Amino acid sequence: MATPTSSYGRIHNFAAGPAVLPVPVLEQARDEMLNWHGSGMSVMEMSHRGKHFEGIIAEAEADLRTLLKIPNNYKVLFMQGGAHQQFSMLPMNFLPKDASADYILTGSWGRTAFKEAGKFGKVRAAFTGEKDNFKALPTAAQLDLDPKAAYLHFTSNETIHGIEWTGEPTPPAGVPLICDTSSDMCSRPFDVSKYALIYAGAQKNLGPAGVVLVIVRDDMLPKVPANLPMMLDYKLMAENKSLFNTPPCYGIYIVGLVVKWLLGQGGLEAIDKHNNAKAAVIYQAIDASGGYYRGHAQANSRSRMNITFRLATEDLENKFAKESTAAGLDGLKGHRSVGGLRASLYNAQSLEAAQTLAKFMKDFQAKNG
Ligand code: PMP
Repeated sequence: MATPTSSYGRIHNFAAGPAVLPVPVLEQARDEMLNWHGSGMSVMEMSHRGKHFEGIIAEAEADLRTLLKIPNNYKVLFMQGGAHQQFSMLPMNFLPKDASADYILTGSWGRTAFKEAGKFGKVRAAFTGEKDNFKALPTAAQLDLDPKAAYLHFTSNETIHGIEWTGEPTPPAGVPLICDTSSDMCSRPFDVSKYALIYAGAQKNLGPAGVVLVIVRDDMLPKVPANLPMMLDYKLMAENKSLFNTPPCYGIYIVGLVVKWLLGQGGLEAIDKHNNAKAAVIYQAIDASGGYYRGHAQANSRSRMNITFRLATEDLENKFAKESTAAGLDGLKGHRSVGGLRASLYNAQSLEAAQTLAKFMKDFQAKNG
């Protein structure tokens, strides 16, 4: 049994997603579970076409627009199918037969998006860090960009490899920029106006699994070809304001609560500072270990969301994972493709959790160095 480290016997959860959510959000969801705002029912039980849910989804969208400063010429969509479905939808909607799309591959997720798009049309890797097992972001000079590309796709944070952009690549003039922000959405300010489409599975920084947030610029929608499968058509989803079919109502409600919580924390500038502070604690622990802990990512490409590191042997890594779980620090085992350990520090993760992990790392080294 893991040792409880906070109220409700909650542990420090470093899982990569689904991941830790803010306790005040969970408390509010608990309090509103049986009777949402005097409606006499829970959000799970109400019609998605009724006035209560209409209010919930409208408020979630309005708050997201405030938080991310989303310009008026963008639609906000709540979709399903995970980020994986977006991998298929992007080429189906925006890659015409006679065109080619560019993908920047900085980790497994970018590579998966690229491979999926290749089933539907012509794709080019504008950069791939694969031969170094995705340790670093490309420099501008390393990008081989097609000035005629149908779009340029990149992954702002590679969850498995722990590589994160701090801004965005500059596409050639007129090339729409598309980004998978599944694991750093709303963790720092994003200049939405630079993007044609941004998407993110909710289950890391925004809420529960089952909701995908899509922010799409209006001028992309006329490009959508006719006769796509209904659920894979951005235009249809936008025309119906995410209510074409029954949406993931409860998930959207929780996303709304998380966004309100983020606004209450001071918005994206404040959460950015908080996320930087937490990541600094763990990277300092790695850097101060004299090579005992070895970060996977090159220093200038390090993710603040997913910190990937290794020890000298797999036995030691397994020991670390087992003992940290027993100490109430859970979810630290790395993804099998990188190995080692991974600490995920999403928005709702506390500074105290990062400090507790850093102390555990120091103590573990002292005992096993
Ligand atoms: N992209 C990124 C950056 C991710 O981290 C993940 C999930 N870990 C995915 C895509 C796939 O998301 P889903 O499981 O929701 O399809």
